[in-house]
Amino acid sequence: MINRRKTREISVGWVKVGANSPIVVQSMTSTKTYDIEATLSQINRLYQKGCELIRVAVPHEEDLEALEEIVKKSPIPVIADIHFAPSYAFKSMQKGVHGIRINPGNIGKESLVKEIIQEAKIRNVAVRLGVNSGSLEKDLLEKHGYPSAKALFESAIRWSERFEKWGFYNFKVSIKGSDVVENVSANMLFASQTDIPLHIGITEAGMGLKGITKSAVGIGILLYHGIGDTIRVSLTDDPEVEIEVAYEILKSLGIRRRGVEIVACPTCGRIEVDLPKVVKEVEKELANVKTPIKVAIMGCVVNAIGEAREADIGLACGKGFAWLFKDGKPIRKVQEQDMAKALLEEIQKSYNS
Ligand code: SF4
Repeated sequence: MINRRKTREISVGWVKVGANSPIVVQSMTSTKTYDIEATLSQINRLYQKGCELIRVAVPHEEDLEALEEIVKKSPIPVIADIHFAPSYAFKSMQKGVHGIRINPGNIGKESLVKEIIQEAKIRNVAVRLGVNSGSLEKDLLEKHGYPSAKALFESAIRWSERFEKWGFYNFKVSIKGSDVVENVSANMLFASQTDIPLHIGITEAGMGLKGITKSAVGIGILLYHGIGDTIRVSLTDDPEVEIEVAYEILKSLGIRRRGVEIVACPTCGRIEVDLPKVVKEVEKELANVKTPIKVAIMGCVVNAIGEAREADIGLACGKGFAWLFKDGKPIRKVQEQDMAKALLEEIQKSYNS
């Protein structure tokens, strides 16, 4: 059992974060924000995949101009990503965004950060307080010599205390270190000291297998320790992949169920059917199913009986055939060439997917 850390609840638009709310999955658009059509189209695709909060980059005036329409038409709350331009934080809030992300370390003066926070309070806009190893305050770098987990933690605590001193509580914190261990350590330190919700993720994780592995390890360790109220898997890839990976991480820890979870055996010398072919076909056909269904596809009877008990539906293969089972019981025998088709038909019939 994972015991989730007790955090306070905040609101990003109509989405609740922290306390007993489900861990929220978010992403960031990769379009030019000023291209309203492309940005909204990507937001809608991400929403269909299960994205619940979306962040958009606001590096230029023209991006600011696009915000109003994007906010109005987006199916999920919109967070403006602000760096180095405090005036954009104010203007984004005027355009109606539900949240802003700022790294106080690159805003500059404390008084300026305070003004942004006061505006957020008046407008009921949520803030993500970002602390990043690349934008740590000078005094902390001098004290620690380099951007260590301790330095990141101290920066996050310092700014959180300031936000609270200014009477602002509708914020979450993200602490991003340069590697997995630093990131995890800093987040664990912070989590042990406060009830402020945490947004977790491994920044600049990279591409493909490496990026997914780094993210799964870092996010997975934190989630296992009950830490994390929102997550983003940052990949150098289409953001839709980020959402898929985020749900796979949550599913693998039994935290959230969305869509199909396929349990497939790794195959070995006992196998007498082309199992990878069946798994690939079933995965492809069920990619857009949102109903949580656990499907087991097992190469032989060795583990099939145990897995069948745990799964909603599945196949236990023999030599050139398989038993199709449902709710732990075999329902009929199918020939190898019909295995994927029979499984998909049964899912369609039983779950109306
Ligand atoms: S389920 Fe059977 S075929 Fe698959 S890995 Fe285990 S022993 Fe091998």
